[in-house]
Amino acid sequence: MKDAIISLLEQNKKNKFLKNTIELRCKCGFSEKITYYDFLSGGKFEIGKPTHTVSPFISESIYDETISVTPLQLSRKCPTCGENIVAVFPISLENIIPLLQSKPPDLLMYG
Ligand SMILES: [Zn+2]
Repeated sequence: MKDAIISLLEQNKKNKFLKNTIELRCKCGFSEKITYYDFLSGGKFEIGKPTHTVSPFISESIYDETISVTPLQLSRKCPTCGENIVAVFPISLENIIPLLQSKPPDLLMYG
C-alpha cells in the first residue's frame, strides 16, 4: 500500500494539493513546516491501524454504514532536543489515493 502511494506521488508531483503544509511540533518548542509532498516522499511515513467510523454521509435508508479510516503518520527526530516528533497526516489513506489520482489540468508534466 505504501508503494502505491509513493508511485502515485511520483506521478503527481505537480499536484497542487501536495503543496499544502503541515506543521511538526515538538514539546520543546521546535516547530517545522513541511509540505504534504515532503511528508509522503521517501516513504518514511507509517501506515497506522485502520479505525472504523460511521459515515458522515449516512442516509436514512442505511443504518450501519461504516467507513474505514487509516491514518498516515510520520515520525522525525527533533533537531533541537532529539525527541521523536510524531505528526499525523490530515488526510486518511482512503482519501489521499483519489486526491493523488486526480490529474492536474496541465499536460506539461508529460513533456
Ligand atoms: Zn524538541
